[in-house]
Amino acid sequence: MRTLSLFALAVVACLAVPSDAGDLRTASALRDRALGDPTAWNIVESLTTEIGPRPIGSPAYSRARDWAIARLKALGFVNVHAEVFPKPAWIRGAESAEVVGPFPQKLAIIGLGNTVPTPPQGIEAPIVVLKSYAELLAARPGAFKGRIVVVNQPMTRTEDGSGYGAAVQIRNGYGEAARRGALAYLIRSVSTGAPRSPHTGAIWGPGTGKIPAAALGVPDADLLQHMAARGPVRLRLKLASSVNPKSLAWNISGEVTGSARPDQIVVIGGHLDSWDPGTGAIDDAAGVAITTAAATLINRLPQHPRRTIRVVLWGSEENGGSSDAYLAAHRNELGKIVLAGESDLGSDRAIHVDLPDGAAKAPAFALLPAVLAPLKVFVADTPPRHGGSDIEGLQKAGVPIFAVGQDASRYFDYHHSADDTLAVVDRASLNQNVAVWASLLYLAADSNVDFRAKPGK
Ligand SMILES: [Zn+2]
Repeated sequence: MRTLSLFALAVVACLAVPSDAGDLRTASALRDRALGDPTAWNIVESLTTEIGPRPIGSPAYSRARDWAIARLKALGFVNVHAEVFPKPAWIRGAESAEVVGPFPQKLAIIGLGNTVPTPPQGIEAPIVVLKSYAELLAARPGAFKGRIVVVNQPMTRTEDGSGYGAAVQIRNGYGEAARRGALAYLIRSVSTGAPRSPHTGAIWGPGTGKIPAAALGVPDADLLQHMAARGPVRLRLKLASSVNPKSLAWNISGEVTGSARPDQIVVIGGHLDSWDPGTGAIDDAAGVAITTAAATLINRLPQHPRRTIRVVLWGSEENGGSSDAYLAAHRNELGKIVLAGESDLGSDRAIHVDLPDGAAKAPAFALLPAVLAPLKVFVADTPPRHGGSDIEGLQKAGVPIFAVGQDASRYFDYHHSADDTLAVVDRASLNQNVAVWASLLYLAADSNVDFRAKPGK
């Protein structure tokens, strides 16, 4: 009789609460804890203060490796190590530009990453100002012979940052300018802001026909357009740089071991390298901080989720290379990586989460919208298109990816410029991201969901 009533009680309990109630409670507790947890802020503050700008090949880049290893160990991660790979380093030298005439004045510029240098005495030539990149592409071969081409096309501000995709091709247009006879290539910074600080970024492409390439501060690009409207303008550009072909880079990782299926791994992370003018706070100390803090909160739970969580701090995002190196080093365990995600869009508020096709309908995620609703975050009904450039290799190799969509409205005001500093990181938004990542990550890692399975199967 007694056994029967206990059984009856158990049945009632099961009917009263969903079977994932424990997971829901844990995910909600992680969410609430994250909002008041100092870990993410401390990481951004420490990385920007103690290391600062950390481009590949710089002494700070090596210090960032040591910083990351010490930090992950101190936070209790296991299997903490650096995976080294070769990566030639482009190292910036002195740079300047000025209008020689008719209205002499100095210009705010920054060389684009990987640009060839000018001769030491610089390049002095008349300019041609184009109001759009399409004007450059429409020009005939040789049209800009002996000139410095200036492309003054503004970037569109969007909440999801999609204006960047259109603008990035302009940055890489030096070959198109060279083909039309240009001596050097200047672009309006790929920026949504008005400040004068110019924004750098990598250029790449075939080695032939390379001409020096730099970005102008947004007001400086407009200034040149105003001058050119009055008549011919001469400009002098000096760019110095060197290349270390033997430089090394490294991806750094640490793990929270799974309690039941440690051989199944969820890979997350942000990138440790940064551009040099600022301190790389939003790009991408924030991503390092958000993912590390989320995994740290999970690491502190009395019971770890079933699967292993691996935080990877990618070492060469800005010039590419992390993704290929990671894929090459982990090709034999791709099947074990059940899910991957990257945080690399700054520290402003998360808006939505995108899960692999069909995953949002899995019972394990049935209550995810309830966990995220208080954060004003929704679960998107479409899978992510891009997980991030550091997990691109994994994605192409078939590893399922997820993404946390963020408000990128002001991200490109600061990105790759001297203004990418701790001053533009909003602590409450940073922690809201940690709350999203921690709860989502916990549910994914504690589930048995096969993210590779297509919907309907
Ligand atoms: Zn980045």
